[in-house]
Amino acid sequence: MKALVYQEPGKKDWVEKDKPVIEKPTDVIVKITRTTICGTDLHILKGDVPAVKPGRTLGHEGVGVVEEVGAAVANFKPGDAVLISCVTSCGKCANCKRQLYAHCSDGGWILGHLIDGTQAEYVRIPHGDNSLYPIPEGADEEALVMLSDIMPTGLEIGVQYGNVKPGDTIAIIGAGPVGMSVLLTAQFYSPGRIVMIDMDPARLDLARQFGATDTIRVGTEDPVARIMEMTDGQGVDVAIEAVGVPSTFDICQKIVSAGGNIANVGVHGKPVELHIEELWIKNINISMGLVSTNTTPMLLKTLRSGKVDPGKLVTHRFKLGEILDAYEVFGNAARERAMKVILNA
Ligand code: NAD
Ligand code: ZN
Repeated sequence: MKALVYQEPGKKDWVEKDKPVIEKPTDVIVKITRTTICGTDLHILKGDVPAVKPGRTLGHEGVGVVEEVGAAVANFKPGDAVLISCVTSCGKCANCKRQLYAHCSDGGWILGHLIDGTQAEYVRIPHGDNSLYPIPEGADEEALVMLSDIMPTGLEIGVQYGNVKPGDTIAIIGAGPVGMSVLLTAQFYSPGRIVMIDMDPARLDLARQFGATDTIRVGTEDPVARIMEMTDGQGVDVAIEAVGVPSTFDICQKIVSAGGNIANVGVHGKPVELHIEELWIKNINISMGLVSTNTTPMLLKTLRSGKVDPGKLVTHRFKLGEILDAYEVFGNAARERAMKVILNA
């Protein structure tokens, strides 16, 4: 089969590789029908995630059809259409029992990281019963690919940890696929005002189409001054960081109102300066975390009922064999006006 493998920092290729086989009775082999590329894959390619070793197949998002199941798999059979979760979980360990699948003792985020991932013709999914979801009849498969990672991330780490409530004024910093997923899922809770902050005017335009009430362009406007102006000097109820750099975390500390929440979603590679001397007296909660995908069943229901349409995040489509071109487009997202790219097998 063919797979997209990481070779060394800055180097990847679409190569011939052995088809995965059942290694444990709980494994499921899935034939990929659609997959995508995540910002995290770009981080890996830069060499920012040293746990990824040369030869690793990348990718942790996708949908497919069950090819083969291990003897202990009860929920799936060959031919079933499935959604692959970016987080693998046994469903039995102490952390899984409290739905903290991100910290499963025999799983977590391992796909395209510690084991071969979904940017391939076939993938082995450990603990298939708990790590795959049946695809509802007639569902939009492109929209479903957004449920592997970005939609649960936005909902769990941004919206739920941030405790977005009806009427709230919220600010989202970073209008990438993850920030856009925060924007879409925050609307389940009817916030009164949603301010999207980014430097890319095209992404801010898209954010307005997807429900942002206000946008602020970093670089030409001062986000802190603008937010204070908009909120009569009070700040926002929830500030959600979806970039992963110190300056955007700092904006959150400066715009959060008394009693408010800072929900950090971005993956940080460097320390941030925490202004506890200013925040303590304001009764601020700060949260952060790795997505568990425990909201996937709920997101599947909202997709089916038409309450949310994550398919609108898809801007480009390629054949799976054209994945190197897709990386070129996704890697130059601002220039190419790309949000999510879909690869069709
Ligand atoms: P992305 O790079 O596509 O988007 C980031 C956005 O931030 C871009 O639109 C960019 O223009 C904007 N930006 C960059 N610097 C900025 C600045 N100084 N001020 C304002 N805007 C700025 O990334 P993404 O795929 O949307 O992911 C966002 C973050 O979420 C990343 O750090 C990613 O690693 C992280 N993430 C976290 C989890 C989790 O479980 N916590 C899961 C998936 C992704
Ligand atoms: Zn577990």
